[in-house]
Amino acid sequence: MYGFNFLDQYIKEKRYPTKFELDEISHGHKVIVFAASMHGNAYSSKVDEIASVPEGFPGVEVDKKGNPTGVYTSDDATFYAQNNIWGSFSDDEIWKFVQDCADYAVTQGVTSIHGLFGQFVEGDRDVDIVLARKDQLPIDLTVFHQTWEPEEAARRGLKRVGGCLTLDGAAFEHTMACFTPYTDRPELRGMLYHSDEEVYDFISKAHARNMQCTMHAVGERAIDQLLYTYLRVFSEQGRKDIRHRLEHFCLPTDEQIQMAKELDIILSMQPSFSYFWDGAGQEFANVVGRKRADRMDPFHKIIEKGITVLSGSDAPVAPIQPLTYLAHCVSGYNQVRNISVTEAIKMCTVNAAYANGEEKQKGSLEVGKTADMAVISKDPYEAAAAGEILEMEVLATIKDGRIIYRKAPV
Ligand SMILES: [Zn+2]
Repeated sequence: MYGFNFLDQYIKEKRYPTKFELDEISHGHKVIVFAASMHGNAYSSKVDEIASVPEGFPGVEVDKKGNPTGVYTSDDATFYAQNNIWGSFSDDEIWKFVQDCADYAVTQGVTSIHGLFGQFVEGDRDVDIVLARKDQLPIDLTVFHQTWEPEEAARRGLKRVGGCLTLDGAAFEHTMACFTPYTDRPELRGMLYHSDEEVYDFISKAHARNMQCTMHAVGERAIDQLLYTYLRVFSEQGRKDIRHRLEHFCLPTDEQIQMAKELDIILSMQPSFSYFWDGAGQEFANVVGRKRADRMDPFHKIIEKGITVLSGSDAPVAPIQPLTYLAHCVSGYNQVRNISVTEAIKMCTVNAAYANGEEKQKGSLEVGKTADMAVISKDPYEAAAAGEILEMEVLATIKDGRIIYRKAPV
């Protein structure tokens, strides 16, 4: 059994449940509690045995007696555990996850997905499974191989490498790397997981191989690390039209937005984050303070600069629901990030196609392009003007001219 979207701030005790507590209520079943960000987990004993994270690993929580509690809060521990857990699934079971995800995406008007694989299954077996079977899916799947070895991705015939290779962690685990301390934990300002040299080694190898690359950088210090690495590599090897990306870019400074523009880096962002965690619950503000929460997901400033920005879900961190996030970008409650309907549509259409080098085939409705489209229940411009943009629904999804989803009549 899985539970997603756990935040300790929602719980009276302000902490994860321990394996002893999960065992008491799970009757021997395997239970995983995923943090909202997926950067922390709690397991029942049965799962914890499979996870088999060594004691003394960074991010392994222990109780007052020094016994591990089955709670993991660093990327090191969480990713190690996930490797063993997902690695215990068969090829067919892993493929079923991918199929279910694609089938759900179709109901949300999606015709292409940029998917991140590797890093969470031993030997990156999932990458080989999806590459062998992805043509069976109803939609297009672009595979990003999450490996620190660009040659590994190249060996698999891929033109791109990286994804959520985490330079820092996430806000709620206090691992998002900030310049200044967390508001609720003044002794912490996040973690940088890798040295500048490691990041440079990765980007310079990928760039030399003409491979598009991307990495996970959420907080200011991680964003700095990646942008300055791109700058160094470009100055050494020259720029190329490879369209490098940066995943998340949640808490940038104005200078970093300017630098991303100058380096022509594509920003792959997730409006889902501020949609879910910067609303009435004030979840982000509770950890970083209101002032910094207002600086998160600054779509307005980014688009004003003319940067190519994408709208993603980070699924399974958040569900694949592009229409919801489109609406949030237009009329979210926090004015600091709101943008026009046209720009919000571009984030999940033309910009996404451009990021993939597919702008001649996809992204807009034009003669000669692939007939990939979604039919939606309202004109988004009229819906926005009428304050009804969050009520838009997908009525049908068309892939390559063929209807692959039609909403059942009510
Ligand atoms: Zn990530």
